Amino acid sequence: MRFDDNAGLDASEVQDLRGSGGGGGGIGGRVALGGGGLGVVGLIIYFVLSQLGGVSVPSGSGLGGGLGGVGSGQAVDNSKLSSECKTGADANKNHDCAIVAVVNSVQDYWTQQFARSGSTYRKAPTNFFNGGVRTGCGSATSDTGPFYCPADSEVYIDLSFFEELKTRFGAQGGLFTEAYVLAHEYGHHVQNLLGTSRKGTGTGPTSGSVRLELQADCYAGVWANHASTTPTESGKPLITDVTQDDINSALDTASRIGDDYIQENLGGGQVDRSKFTHGTSAQRKKWFTTGFQTGEPARCDTFGTNNLG
Ligand SMILES: [Zn+2]
Repeated sequence: MRFDDNAGLDASEVQDLRGSGGGGGGIGGRVALGGGGLGVVGLIIYFVLSQLGGVSVPSGSGLGGGLGGVGSGQAVDNSKLSSECKTGADANKNHDCAIVAVVNSVQDYWTQQFARSGSTYRKAPTNFFNGGVRTGCGSATSDTGPFYCPADSEVYIDLSFFEELKTRFGAQGGLFTEAYVLAHEYGHHVQNLLGTSRKGTGTGPTSGSVRLELQADCYAGVWANHASTTPTESGKPLITDVTQDDINSALDTASRIGDDYIQENLGGGQVDRSKFTHGTSAQRKKWFTTGFQTGEPARCDTFGTNNLG
């Protein structure tokens, strides 16, 4: 995947929280900055949660309650991103800028797709954090992995996750792997806007949770199909090409984050289907591929099929 050197980037779609204390679990500077209504109760809750290693926020889960608004005390400092990430040329040589460009492309696609179907896409920021973060869904540490919080409609990612994908999950890695992960999280945002998120409940191979996750994979594939043809405001696509190697690296990642793979290789070694929340590796590959090959969000109807793969 390459970016058009001359295309403009919009760094405001990413919120950089990495300067605001960093370090997971620590109560650090983030709470001290809690001017946004974080009272004593909030402090105590935050402290308890951080001692427990953070609340588990499964990506795309229907968590709606949590510590609403607590995240407002964290400081966004976008000065570095906005000065460094101005064009596609910047994205071609700077990793942070490449992520900005991917977020821009994914959201350009959904903006245009919603408009085609007569509705309006609301843009959602991606937050870069280090170690730990407070969100509308509660506090989370990097161990959670990247996630989307439906309560505040924002994506959260510690970019060190991409290293972990390689070292711990054995993925081959590469920029398109990262694009797949982000496009998956934005798939959850689309589900939130469409009202689908609330159906994502329960566990087990045919649960709503699995259907929701597989649909997000499918939506990521849909974006991948359109990635190099979605125009920016200038009229030209930001991404100039998506290669077969790119698609292969997304599929390689999908094959390492299926419930069965994780349970076998990173859990106890035993596969327990009743605990499935994301689908098997084969299913995740299948639904990404369905989205990629058809380019049609309507083909991602994981809730209306008896054949999840
Ligand atoms: Zn997900």
